[in-house]
Amino acid sequence: MSEEYRYDLVIVGGGPAGSSAAFSAAKNGIKVALIEKENSIAETVRTSGVTWIQNIKEFGIPENCFNSIKNFSFCSPNNEVTISDTVPRAAVLDVRKTYRWLANEAKESGADIFVKTNIKEIIKNEKGDIEGVKGIGINGEVIFHSKVVIDASGFQSTVCKAMGFASQWERFGAGAEFEVEAENVDSETWWLMVGQQYSPAGYAWIFPLGNNIVRIGVGVGKPESNVDPTQRLKEIMEKQLGPIKKLGRLTEKEFHYGLIPNDGLSRKTVFNNLILVGDSAGQANPLVLEGIRYAIKFGRVAGKVASDAIKSGITDEESLYPYEENWRNEIENKINSASKVQDRWIGLTDEEWDKELDIIKELKSEEFLDFIKADFGLSNMIKLATHHPKLAVRQLFNLVKGKK
Ligand SMILES: Cc1cc2nc3c(=O)[nH]c(=O)nc-3n(C[C@H](O)[C@H](O)[C@H](O)COP(=O)(O)OP(=O)(O)OC[C@H]3O[C@@H](n4cnc5c(N)ncnc54)[C@H](O)[C@@H]3O)c2cc1C
Repeated sequence: MSEEYRYDLVIVGGGPAGSSAAFSAAKNGIKVALIEKENSIAETVRTSGVTWIQNIKEFGIPENCFNSIKNFSFCSPNNEVTISDTVPRAAVLDVRKTYRWLANEAKESGADIFVKTNIKEIIKNEKGDIEGVKGIGINGEVIFHSKVVIDASGFQSTVCKAMGFASQWERFGAGAEFEVEAENVDSETWWLMVGQQYSPAGYAWIFPLGNNIVRIGVGVGKPESNVDPTQRLKEIMEKQLGPIKKLGRLTEKEFHYGLIPNDGLSRKTVFNNLILVGDSAGQANPLVLEGIRYAIKFGRVAGKVASDAIKSGITDEESLYPYEENWRNEIENKINSASKVQDRWIGLTDEEWDKELDIIKELKSEEFLDFIKADFGLSNMIKLATHHPKLAVRQLFNLVKGKK
């Protein structure tokens, strides 16, 4: 016997996008189910958890969920730069705590959370539009009927693939990281490490979490490189390359592995009765492949737009379109500009990276942060591209503006 449920809104995936959509939709007074295939929310961590204090405050994430970062260090094979700020503007999240806090916000607003429930199929109505999902739960088959489905299943994009609306991402990042306890940690400083020895198409990182815990990782762009990030990570840790040496003795605590789409904003994200959000929609900043803040922000927008449509009784593509309009207005231009910088970075040789760091050295901390966040205000870009005293900096920002 299968279990059968009826909800206004069903959300597949209990990551930051799904929990945030469930929160805003439930708060708007509709009946919401949030479905997660793992045994608990954030059982497996697949991310390094870097995000920005400004967004943390906007979302209301509690102080005990993150470690603040004030200094941004970069190293290439023969160069090094540290940009220091007077106040912390970045943070490394305790991913499990943050994601569980997000899910709890949804629960407290009235959403029902189903864990250990793996969605495998979709249910369509006579017109071919989605009207629910089916999966395997604790007691066997589970059927969820709903007016709208949100696909927040991340890289896998389970629902939109089952509908035939998308196929596997062609370009993506693969990342591996160890969470370790280290002897010597500067908990206010992160490291990004670039050049062939760290990653032939990507970068390596050290992100401190406080209490002498750091995440050391390697990200590799696919299909540009066939290097296995886990293998490369073990090698750079064994050789204690660059700033890893300064950490002293390392004790491994946990291993994380994940994939993130890097195909730009190639997907349509609204269909009749269906919304895609977060990684399933490809909403990531390509410069450092960070997507958590977009997942939360646009998750909330998706939940609000879906619940408004459900309340109005019309849930076709047109009525869900305000969601797509919202996120495209906010990030489409920025992501397109950042993709141009990413294309440049992926092709750099070690010597060129050494020189790129000389350009980065010229940036003030707020300029550097806007840049790495792909938060290019047009006027700021024009200012930097036109008036910066260094030619190389002007060239870099001309690229962001769209000139070769
Ligand atoms: C190695 C690595 C490092 C990263 N580092 C950063 C970083 O430092 N900062 C940053 O902002 N971003 C980072 N990202 C990206 C970030 O992790 C994602 O953008 C973000 O997690 C997207 O959230 P999401 O909710 O869309 O998807 P996810 O976080 O992937 O959540 C999807 C959820 O859906 C569940 N699910 C999947 N399929 C089903 C199914 N069929 N049925 C039920 N449940 C299902 C999964 O178990 C999961 O819990 C990194 C990514 C990787 C791979």
